Amino acid sequence: MRYTIGLLKGDGIGPEIVDSAVRVLKAVGKKYGHEFIFTPYLIGGAAIDECGMPLPEETVKGCLASDSVLLGAVGGPKWDGLPGNLRPEKALLGIREAMGLFINLRPAKLYPALKAECPLREDIVAQGFDIMIVRELTGGIYFGERGYRNGKYGEEAYDTESYSRMEIERIVRVAFETARKRRKKLTSIDKANVLETSRLWRKIVHEIAAEYPDVEASDMLVDNAAMQLVRNPAQFDVIVTSNMFGDILSDEASQITGSIGMLPSASLSGGSCGLYEPIHGSAPDIAGTGKANPIATILSAAMMLLYAFSLNKESESIVNAVDKVLEAGLRTADIARGKVALSTDEMTDAIIRELSV
Ligand code: NAD
Repeated sequence: MRYTIGLLKGDGIGPEIVDSAVRVLKAVGKKYGHEFIFTPYLIGGAAIDECGMPLPEETVKGCLASDSVLLGAVGGPKWDGLPGNLRPEKALLGIREAMGLFINLRPAKLYPALKAECPLREDIVAQGFDIMIVRELTGGIYFGERGYRNGKYGEEAYDTESYSRMEIERIVRVAFETARKRRKKLTSIDKANVLETSRLWRKIVHEIAAEYPDVEASDMLVDNAAMQLVRNPAQFDVIVTSNMFGDILSDEASQITGSIGMLPSASLSGGSCGLYEPIHGSAPDIAGTGKANPIATILSAAMMLLYAFSLNKESESIVNAVDKVLEAGLRTADIARGKVALSTDEMTDAIIRELSV
């Protein structure tokens, strides 16, 4: 089969980790007889430098015309002083909106080989965890009305959160379907004791729960959830939550897996083939040093094979290769803790060698 993949390398470590994932995809293509055709498009700071805007029209058109899209990361200190609508991060919101990507799947599991890297207590680590965070991606406060005004105490800034029934219903249904295919447990996270949007969210979760009697559904306040994630992560199977809560909780979940460099994500629309990216940022502090862990991006490519192209065994072969490399004790600097650290390229080579076995 032949698949076209748009590449959004972005900034910082983005180009390094996307190149790693491309090399892995090429190895999978060679092994299983698929042709992946890669076309790079500008995004983020790189696009600002080249054409004065973070998300050029050509990038949007190219992504919409591709079978799927792989993104590295955007942003960096060079562009931090720009006004909000010209910042690299604006491109992320723009491409998600343009592709209608309202579903963000963020798996966070503890690899047995990385137990020593988990910062939690030994008895908690011993239980392990395997969580799927289903984050709403195109609504809420990140997309609401915002601005500056003269308030009671002078200069004031505001952001607003709003959610429609339609936006909540469609993401909650995805979460219930996801739970159905896993351990059939769903935790909906909100702030219903304070926020009106959360009260509507919770009401809709309860309505939809009636359609899924086989799934054990419960609510949890976001402040409690932040605590429970480090106290007893094994209690979670699928989590569903709003855009901002999902953003924050998935970073917390990433840290208890050992490193943010390990976590992939898939952003889907329910129709298109989606956009796949690591959950971390552009890590400007290590860009160009060869220290970036490419695994989150390589696992994002594995999610692409599964969700966009239904190439199940090809996807599994990547996940297994990553497992084996970690079990063999190979580490990049972020997870090395005293062990010899491989560079981005060396870790990628090791994964490709496992794939070819
Ligand atoms: P970050 O995720 O880039 O980095 C946080 C820490 O984790 C840093 O110490 C970094 O070195 C480390 N890290 C991240 N990815 C790593 C990897 N693959 N291997 C090893 N270590 C890794 O977050 P930040 O420092 O808050 O943000 C840096 C820039 O990235 C900012 O401009 C921010 O806006 C942007 N950002 C972009 C995205 C995205 O493109 N999706 C997401 C988050 C932040």
